[in-house]
Amino acid sequence: MSLFAGLRATPNDPIFGLTDRFNKDTDPNKVNLGVGMYQDAHGAVPLLKTVLKVENGLDAQGLPRPYPPMDGLADYNREAQKLVFGADSPAIAAGRIVTAQSLGGTGALTVAADVYSAASPNHAALVSSPTWANHIAILQRAGYTVGTYRYYDAQRHGVDVDGLLADLSAAEAGTVIVLHECCHNPTGYDLTREQWDAVAQLARDRRLTLFIDMAYQGFSEGLDEDAETIRRLVADGLTFVVGSSFSKNFSLYGERIGAVHFVCADADEAERVRSRVKTAARENYSTPPLHGARIVTTILSDEQLRAQWVEEVTAMRERIKSMRRALVDGLNAAGVHDMEFINTQAGMFSYCGLSKEQMELLRTEHHVYGTDAGRLCVAALNPGNVDYVATAIAAVRS
Ligand code: PMP
Repeated sequence: MSLFAGLRATPNDPIFGLTDRFNKDTDPNKVNLGVGMYQDAHGAVPLLKTVLKVENGLDAQGLPRPYPPMDGLADYNREAQKLVFGADSPAIAAGRIVTAQSLGGTGALTVAADVYSAASPNHAALVSSPTWANHIAILQRAGYTVGTYRYYDAQRHGVDVDGLLADLSAAEAGTVIVLHECCHNPTGYDLTREQWDAVAQLARDRRLTLFIDMAYQGFSEGLDEDAETIRRLVADGLTFVVGSSFSKNFSLYGERIGAVHFVCADADEAERVRSRVKTAARENYSTPPLHGARIVTTILSDEQLRAQWVEEVTAMRERIKSMRRALVDGLNAAGVHDMEFINTQAGMFSYCGLSKEQMELLRTEHHVYGTDAGRLCVAALNPGNVDYVATAIAAVRS
């Protein structure tokens, strides 16, 4: 009898299941809006020009591949930290932010969960309803009981702020609260400045432990603009953790490159946290990979390359926004006049408000693939498919 005979397969990941169905679909008009990757106007995941330039240079140098430190390359961590907190951050100068290179935004949360778990006996966590599914899985794996706070308001096409604040008010001290800094996945709806202030006030009053996930810096309003909330929380003296990722804004999905940042009370506390972070890294994967870190460090520390990269991020952001507008225009042209809310959302995703049945009709009748919950990746729209998608949505709504 095999060792694995009694092992049941895990349920299919819904997004990968969708991709499977999409791949098998032979219709020439098929469109995959289930994916979580930015695509260019030709439907390809881009290799940024700055990345290619640096990669060619790295190849020519023929660098060796020793183990990096457990918390990653020091130069990388410095650059990643400045991008999130601002180059002139007094908290950086005070040595109270611990930054460690992570395996993307996913790795940032994994390491943070281990450190939180060691720091507090309260193993409760709350995530937005809905959220990126891995938030729940990773926290549960670290021993957390994960609940949800109200977030998506389907009727008003926005955030249920009263529900959110009520749910956070009821949380025990020390509960980990996962928040999306910008470009909420899956809904596309973000908190306003005033709403963030109310959340921060509650976090302070009720001693909640914030994890701010920033997987899409630069995809909402701009690189600095999108980090503004984090910078304000730091200035207000809150201690919390940020997960940041270069998967999207460098289009380096497969390199697994991101960072986890612990905002501590002072430099002494930061040193203790750093030792915990190194232990968490060591026990999970020992040391992070070098290649992506070298690319990102070279670009961010070179004035010209950095400026060129900022332009590339701007172009991706503007393209997504123009596709949102084109989708709404296409819907209007097809007689659908109540989906303007798509233009109020930010980032790669849109909750379009269609039911599970309508989403299935989109697939079977029109070969357009989004998730059952109605999430469409607007970053996969392009001038060649957007009108077709708009017409398809209009048809399943009629
Ligand atoms: N957080 C959120 C909200 C995400 O949407 C994603 C990616 N889909 C991640 C974290 C993980 O990012 P990465 O691919 O860099 O691990």
